[in-house]
Amino acid sequence: MDKVFCFKNCPSKFCISACPSGALMVEDNKIVVRSNRCYGCGLCRHMCMTWSVLWGQKK
Ligand code: SF4
Ligand code: SF4
Repeated sequence: MDKVFCFKNCPSKFCISACPSGALMVEDNKIVVRSNRCYGCGLCRHMCMTWSVLWGQKK
């Protein structure tokens, strides 16, 4: 299942290049994570300079 990861979709997209399993992609101007590919390593969150990621945060 895909889940919104970031609404910001910044030009650098460090999160996408950091992901070793290719779980992140751009969809409708948002970054989404394919949960069947994500194994929770956390690299994407570390690479995001602005800490804009939503994934893993409780609302
Ligand atoms: S998660 Fe961070 S690096 Fe990825 S698109 Fe959003 S702001 Fe950019
Ligand atoms: S936690 Fe790891 S595997 Fe999951 S999206 Fe982030 S970088 Fe990719």
